[in-house]
Amino acid sequence: MTRLMGHLGLNSLRGRFMYIMVLFISLMLIIYWVEESRVSDITQQGVSITAERQSVGWILSDIAKYTWTADAALNHDQIPESRRRIEAQQFLQTALESAVALADHKIIKRSPATLRDALDLATRIRKLNEKISGSVGKSGFAGIHDITAPFFADIRASVRMLEKTLDTQSVKNRQAELRAVDRLMMALWLATLIGIAAILTGFLLFERSIIKPIARITAAFRDEAEGLKKIEIRYARTEEMQNLVSAFSHMRQRIHARQLRLETILHNAAEGIITFDTEGRIESFNQAAERLFGYAEEEVTGKDLRLIIPPQTRESREDYLTHFIRTEIQHLIGHEGEVTGRHKDGSNFPMALKISAMTLEGKQLYTGLVADISERKAMLENLKNMAEHDGLTGLYNRSYFQQELERVVERVKRAGGICCALLYIDLDNFKYVNDTLGHTAGDRLIIEVAGILHRRARKSDLIARIGGDEFSVLLFDTTPAFSVQTAESFRTKIADYVFMHSGENIDIGCSIGVTAISPNTSSATAVLSQADLACHLAKRGGRNRVHLYNPDDAENVSAMSLDMGWSRRIKDAIENDRFVLARQPIINCATREIESHEVLIRMLDERDEIIMPTAFLSTAERFGLSAEIDKWVIQKAIEGLAKQRVTSPQARYAINLSGGTLTTPGICELIQDTLGETRVDPSALTFEVTETVAIADMLAAGNFLSRLRSMGCHTALDDFGSGMSSFAYLKDLPVHYVKIDGRFVKNLATSPVDQAMVKAMNEIVHALGKKTVAEFVENEASFKLLIEYGVDFAQGYYLGRPDILSPTVSHAHGRGATGNDKT
Ligand code: GH3
Ligand code: MG
Repeated sequence: MTRLMGHLGLNSLRGRFMYIMVLFISLMLIIYWVEESRVSDITQQGVSITAERQSVGWILSDIAKYTWTADAALNHDQIPESRRRIEAQQFLQTALESAVALADHKIIKRSPATLRDALDLATRIRKLNEKISGSVGKSGFAGIHDITAPFFADIRASVRMLEKTLDTQSVKNRQAELRAVDRLMMALWLATLIGIAAILTGFLLFERSIIKPIARITAAFRDEAEGLKKIEIRYARTEEMQNLVSAFSHMRQRIHARQLRLETILHNAAEGIITFDTEGRIESFNQAAERLFGYAEEEVTGKDLRLIIPPQTRESREDYLTHFIRTEIQHLIGHEGEVTGRHKDGSNFPMALKISAMTLEGKQLYTGLVADISERKAMLENLKNMAEHDGLTGLYNRSYFQQELERVVERVKRAGGICCALLYIDLDNFKYVNDTLGHTAGDRLIIEVAGILHRRARKSDLIARIGGDEFSVLLFDTTPAFSVQTAESFRTKIADYVFMHSGENIDIGCSIGVTAISPNTSSATAVLSQADLACHLAKRGGRNRVHLYNPDDAENVSAMSLDMGWSRRIKDAIENDRFVLARQPIINCATREIESHEVLIRMLDERDEIIMPTAFLSTAERFGLSAEIDKWVIQKAIEGLAKQRVTSPQARYAINLSGGTLTTPGICELIQDTLGETRVDPSALTFEVTETVAIADMLAAGNFLSRLRSMGCHTALDDFGSGMSSFAYLKDLPVHYVKIDGRFVKNLATSPVDQAMVKAMNEIVHALGKKTVAEFVENEASFKLLIEYGVDFAQGYYLGRPDILSPTVSHAHGRGATGNDKT
């Protein structure tokens, strides 16, 4: 419809007006034409009336003529009387017929007066004729003239009167007709003129007050759109146009304000935002992008992306940009990817790039969100480094070593032929240093021994600190004999070294267990057990010596009880249920009521003496036994809680999980099954994972904790602050509680530094929507400070020592309990 109107030119006001004008003129022409034909009708009518009038005139003159001839015949002296009468009667008869014909004429009938006169005339002629015929033989012919003379005079007078009447009537009619025609024509002309004048005036007014102002305002809108000048109210003269302009100005102000807001948001966005077209030409660049790349927006607008995202390996390829746009960009739509960005100063940096595609004014554009991820990458690198290295010596830590050992065992098995070896080094009588010179001196000694090992090792050797005073070295491509030689050289280096402390010289030594890794080796755990056993045998042999593991060693050792390696003892304890649980209360700082209990594990020796977890847990982890211990704890703890909740329905337990457990299949199922069997509410359980374990494998820890949360259990991050000083990862970990490492709390009352640390940790943890638990609370002063800082929960010897859950064991507060006795 609109298209049709467009074709007909009816879309514009002017077009519509023209159509109305044409219609009006056509109407006027039609009226004119109709009236014109009416005028010609009237004229035509006038002509026929004149003709009728003429024929009536002839009839009248016939009547007059025959009447006069009759009169003349009647008075003709030379003709005999009888003939005169007959002739007169004949003439009168003819006159009568004419008179009858006259009365029957249209023009006569049209007026009643003329019809009456015509009939009157006929009657007079008839009467005259009767008089003439009646006069025969009565008074003689001599008197006939006197009798008929008045009749003849009357008839003539009637004829004259009729003629006169008809003449007058005809003139009158004619005049009236002419006047009517004149009036009609005049009216017609006048109407046409007025119509045309009205249309012209209307058109002029329409042009002036509507079309032109609209054109002027349209031009002003265009000028404003092009940025030439701003539209003002003076562009409009009529009230309606002024309303239009002010409505437009208002709309412009609103759009401008909105645009300003969007631009401000765009420019103040923390992430760089770049828009570019399908050719890779940059269209816009926000302030964050300016800071990121060092270019001002004007410097990069219109340039292609290669300026800021340079080709990495395809420098020479001309089609890099096309390739980047067609392939890489498509992969980055909706997903964050990593590319290399180039700063104006020429330096490259790792950059996160996320693209979204859009169509603006019919043009396909891309928006790229860019961020410098150098810090993030460095932090991840740092995290990885920390997860792989020992904080004290900088050597690889146990978990990294274990993974590497597994890889090496697999490689040797696959490749065959190659032989590797593992050295297990344990310092002799290290406790002596600790006990006599203090822990700090012990630490220094460990660092120095690490240095000796590092300096002595080949580049290809992998050295790790796997326990307190235990180190291990992986030797690649070696023989058993050569590895014993290498172990000897390590031993002599350490034996030759004299540790100096406060002027005192202390000789140190170490025992080394050596085991070969061959294609027959069953697993990494087996290699470690063998090396541990060999080291143990070296100790038993008198210390400061090297022992190469051989298959008979295992049998020899199995006979030993107390003296056997820890790995064997732990396995034995698991098999024979030689563990017990202890519980330490966790106090709600606000109410000073017991909120929950942390469940702690203890091992029983052959004489049912309690062994604290520090003595066996690291070994259990080293030998992949921690998950087995955790399973035991989970089951016993939930069963114990179920019993306790019969009398104390509010009882809650917190259970520690070790790193190995997080990746052991079936743990969550075990928890779920045990909860199901005992009907314990999952929210009564909190599972704790240490910070070191969590950052060693953030993904696994995150997934595991999320699963626990989805089951309805609570989760906690233990020993927070022990490994990392970064809070970055904390917000991603799905934990309800963060337990501040005891080392910051132990001396809280006297250490302003610890006070500041605890305060800061508490605030940040709260800001992340989690709750805090302080460990190692050993006095009232520390507890008061924790309450003052708003820490949610606390535990420690001051608030409650661990008590043994199992009623069969009487050594509730087993020896060596320190408050740090975690499972
Ligand atoms: P042995 O000859 O049988 O090896 O006896 P030892 O005295 O060396 O004792 P053992 O190897 O069994 O124990 C090592 C001790 O090292 C136990 C622990 O107190 C201490 N220790 C563990 N980690 C550290 C640490 O990081 N720093 C310090 N200074 N001491 C530690
Ligand atoms: Mg030792």
